[in-house]
Amino acid sequence: MADRTFLDWPFFDATRRALATELETWCETHLTHGHGDDIDAECRALVRKLGDGGWLRYCVPAAYGGVHEQLDVRSLALIRETLARHDGLADFVFAMQGLGSGTISLFGSEAQKQAWLPAVASGEKIAAFALTEPTSGSDVASMETRAEADGNRYVVNGAKAYISNGGIADFYVLFARTGEAPGARGVSAFVVEAGAGGLDASERIQVIAPHPLATLKFTDMRLPADALLGERGRGFAQAMATLDVFRTTVGAAALGFARRALDEATTRALTRQSMGATLADNAVVQSMLAEMVVDVETSALLVYRAGWLRDVMGQRNSREAAIAKLHATDRAQVVIDKAVQIFGGLGVTVGCPVESLYREIRALRIYEGASEVQKIVIARHHLAEAKA
Ligand SMILES: Cc1cc2nc3c(=O)[nH]c(=O)nc-3n(C[C@H](O)[C@H](O)[C@H](O)COP(=O)(O)OP(=O)(O)OC[C@H]3O[C@@H](n4cnc5c(N)ncnc54)[C@H](O)[C@@H]3O)c2cc1C
Repeated sequence: MADRTFLDWPFFDATRRALATELETWCETHLTHGHGDDIDAECRALVRKLGDGGWLRYCVPAAYGGVHEQLDVRSLALIRETLARHDGLADFVFAMQGLGSGTISLFGSEAQKQAWLPAVASGEKIAAFALTEPTSGSDVASMETRAEADGNRYVVNGAKAYISNGGIADFYVLFARTGEAPGARGVSAFVVEAGAGGLDASERIQVIAPHPLATLKFTDMRLPADALLGERGRGFAQAMATLDVFRTTVGAAALGFARRALDEATTRALTRQSMGATLADNAVVQSMLAEMVVDVETSALLVYRAGWLRDVMGQRNSREAAIAKLHATDRAQVVIDKAVQIFGGLGVTVGCPVESLYREIRALRIYEGASEVQKIVIARHHLAEAKA
């Protein structure tokens, strides 16, 4: 039932339209059932399933088992939107394969790319992205985890918090302070194998929409010099460049959740009787549905514009990615809340689709830059242009 007319927009070509249609069919046969309580096992199974289906190939460049020469934001966004509409955990798994390996795709050496990316694309290895710390979330540049050079290796001490796939990942892209300068200019990126001595990922965090999440603790963890990812001291810029690709896709996931909520609410409104008519006959409910439609459409326009600017126009799209993420995640929250309202008591009943959407959407307004941080990015661009 979900509206598919957006695929005719000029942001897409025949290849991307076909991708959306093929994935839709695949989801209808492969993502039909819910998930059990063992979320780690469910995620591992979903990684294999998405890998076998060929969808994880979109997470890496073509030279390493991928589809497009470079990471294609519109494809990533179409996949996330579609998966999120069918199954939030499938979207999570897909997103983390991309985000967790994204810094390697963008900045890794040939050897690092060969070592990790084909296995990410096939679903043989699970990826994670370790940036946030217990005392440094939005303020990334204040991170404290240290990687100190010691001969031909690095010794890492510190902690990372809220790391998705923590505990089940095969490798982590880790950002740590290497001391070239204070703040943003003293951070480097590394690839860390999950079994590394001195890495403890056993402290798990339970969240309202369950997925694997952990605190990582590093105690004198030794890394070989070739674990360094890209140039030393460039880790902050590398993290931001990686987020530039994936922030747009967080908006796409929110869009998928919102479309699902709109579909569910519309079906319910068309069948639920109240005061001698269906809810859909009621002008107040129609007004709610109309607002939901506008929120979904504007989010889609902003998400796919951001992708098109980067993929087709070759522009750095930090401003547009921030606008897309801010708008799509904030409005999806409102759309889903209205869907719950249209469902009435059933809407807050555990197991009702809009109830799980209500929990799923919340974290998207916080991770990969909270809504307030996106506003800072947007205002900074706006004011810089005004002063120029
Ligand atoms: C489910 C989930 C999964 C996550 N997965 C990962 C992961 O895989 N890898 C990873 O590295 N991190 C991950 N994170 C961490 C996430 O990126 C951080 O939670 C986020 O960046 C916010 O940091 P914080 O929680 O420390 O909040 P804080 O930085 O303490 O901010 C709290 C709130 O204060 C406000 N705020 C903060 N700074 C400003 C400011 N300068 N101006 C205005 N308002 C401000 C915002 O409203 C913000 O939400 C995940 C988080 C969640 C919830």
